[in-house]
Amino acid sequence: MLLHHRILHPRLLVPIVSFSAPLPRSLRSDHPLLLLACGRRNSASLFARSHSLSTVAQLAVSAPLEVDAPILRKIADGEDGEPQVQIPLDKLFVPPGVDLSEAASTASGRVLRGSNIVLGPYARDAQVATAEFIKSSTKTEECPTDGLPEFALVGRSNVGKSSLLNSLVRRKRLALTSKKPGKTQCINHFRINDTWYLVDLPGYGYAAAPQETRANWGEFTKNYFLNRESLVSVFLLIDASIPAKKIDLEYASWLGQNQIPMTLLFTKCDKRKKKKNGGKRPEENVEDYQKLIREYFKEAPPWIMTSSVTNQGREEILLHMAQLRNYWLKH
Ligand code: GDP
Repeated sequence: MLLHHRILHPRLLVPIVSFSAPLPRSLRSDHPLLLLACGRRNSASLFARSHSLSTVAQLAVSAPLEVDAPILRKIADGEDGEPQVQIPLDKLFVPPGVDLSEAASTASGRVLRGSNIVLGPYARDAQVATAEFIKSSTKTEECPTDGLPEFALVGRSNVGKSSLLNSLVRRKRLALTSKKPGKTQCINHFRINDTWYLVDLPGYGYAAAPQETRANWGEFTKNYFLNRESLVSVFLLIDASIPAKKIDLEYASWLGQNQIPMTLLFTKCDKRKKKKNGGKRPEENVEDYQKLIREYFKEAPPWIMTSSVTNQGREEILLHMAQLRNYWLKH
């Protein structure tokens, strides 16, 4: 069944534009995400009013979860000097296995730096040990059939998708595979640690492409999004060095309407020159984008600020993917 095995973010359960859409059977009644999105919202908001994001990060230091110590330090200390963004707690993405209402007393909640994502107990095996290109497919039916969980990377042409993929797998030539002639319009599968896939989808919005091709961004990938059972989440890349583009908002809106789980990856966050970036810093563009997206979503989806130049966000992306993946595998 469509979406049957997927994790739906609480934010995506009730996008304003598709409020009447029925929920998948697997998400009715006692699903933990649903409980959090509905029943426990009050206690989460209460907590939000009295705690800042940095408080949550402080709480994180002593929490006994199976994540790497350097990452914990980074989360808590802000060791790379990047400004820590303050996020109201009710704007956080809460993954499965975390009860926000208990976070204050048990210190089990923590927030990944440069994101709105709380780290939970499923965040293990996040490192990339091996990565190999498996195949290019022109249709969903041609994609690998081994049922391993996968994450799809998608974004406007030139958003920095290849660079990010390269930074995630740390193998330059591998990421370039998708840019070879004949493969730019394909679904490209990269197998990680022999246990999950990163999927590179065609970029959209080529400035040089004819209008009808640009308007048609979805036809190639829509079928994949709607029918790929092993797709855990889409990672939509947005260039944070420039103001939001209409086509990016349209893409996010379509994913929301169709209840496709989505994470926003803001790219090029190292580009800090206001003048060159249309007068705004990446943090401001990130905030603007989220304000705009609130028109389409009742609540903001998970997001992470990244840079392939400084590697900002790399470990956060891998931890986020790990907790979504490990939860998906268990359910
Ligand atoms: P793609 O078309 O989405 O695959 O984008 P690329 O990865 O080829 O990157 C497009 C351009 O943006 C290249 O000139 C990259 O060097 C540059 N770029 C990509 N990521 C970053 C980043 O994180 N920071 C900066 N400053 N430039 C980037």
